[in-house]
Parts: sequence; C-alpha cells; structure tokens
Amino acid sequence: MRSAVGPDIHLLHDVHHRLTPIEAGRLGKSLEPFNLFWMEDATPAENQEAFKLIRQHTTTPLAVGEIFNSIWDCKDLIENQLIDFIRTTVVHAGGITQLRRIADLASLYQVRTGCHGATDLSPACMGAALHFDMWVPNFGIQEYMRHTEETDAVFPHSYSFANGMLHPGEAPGHGVDIDETLAAKYPYQRAYLPVNRLQHDGTLWNW
Ligand SMILES: [Mg+2]
Repeated sequence: MRSAVGPDIHLLHDVHHRLTPIEAGRLGKSLEPFNLFWMEDATPAENQEAFKLIRQHTTTPLAVGEIFNSIWDCKDLIENQLIDFIRTTVVHAGGITQLRRIADLASLYQVRTGCHGATDLSPACMGAALHFDMWVPNFGIQEYMRHTEETDAVFPHSYSFANGMLHPGEAPGHGVDIDETLAAKYPYQRAYLPVNRLQHDGTLWNW
C-alpha cells in the first residue's frame, strides 16, 4: 500500500482489538518502515496494562478509545503516555463538555484527538464532532464514513466532505436536522452486532 500511494498519504490500520499484546507489539514493529499514521485498537481495551507492553516494542503511533465512555477510561493511558491518539466520541463519552475535558487532559501529554466516526454514529453526532474538532487545539484527525442516502435524507445536514476534508457548513447550531416524517417511514428493526463463538466448542468470545 505504501509503495502504491507514496509517502504523503496517511495510512491507518484498525486492528479491531484482535491481537494479544505481544502480537500487537510485533505488528507495530514490523509496520514501522511504512510510517503509519496510527495503529488502532491493537488489543482488547479493557486490559490497559497491555499498552505498556506494546509501547515497549514499537514506535508506531497507537490510537484507542472508540468504546470508552468517560474520562476515567482515558486517564491512565494518557497520563502514562501509552497512546498517541484518543478516539472517544461526543455521543459515547458524555457530550461535548466531557470530550473537551478529555482533550484538555490529553493535550498535557501531547496526545491528539481522533474521534470515532463510523456509521454506528448518526449525522447528528458527526455535526457535533465537527464543531468539537474546530475548537480542539490538539486535533489529530476525524474518522468519517459516508452514511446511506436514506440516512442523509432523514438527517439533512450542512456539513460536507471533499478531497479528504470535512467542512461543518454555515447552518446554525450543529447544522444537522431530523426529518421526523421521513424517519417514520423506517420503523425500528431489532438488530444485533455479530456474535462470535469459538469454532471448536462454541464458547462466546470477543470479536
Ligand atoms: Mg475502529
């Protein structure tokens, strides 16, 4: 990938919490020649001690936090300088005020922001995230995944994406509305994240 896109394109690798600490250390080390922008969610984030081990083995920048819910989930990783990007979101981590507190704490340790922004978050959250991003001095990057046309129609918004950049637009507030009449055409359907089981005995396992 690096040889295909050249040195100027940021490459980010999401590991989805799938490795053991020593596997993550080895992956980060082996990817150093390719100058990743970050390696994301290298190990299950519940065991924060793992990041000490990963950090000992690689200078590949580490990003974590899309499943964190408060400043307390971020505190030790930031204060011990075990990560380079904190990925908490407005909607998961207590709103804009709480996210600002996390970002200020992170700035003391030169940790930058990189808010999660996949389509499990609505355009309303993306609008709020962009306004947070415009403020935060230690901004790193904003994840963005296009919503479907149907979702965009239900949430008319002023933000736009072009050439790798997001612009919040000029509408007041967060610049995102909700068309409740249109939303009513899509009644709630019960759905679940994938359930992962070990092949040999069916044990419920993380994914
Ligand atoms: Mg991710």
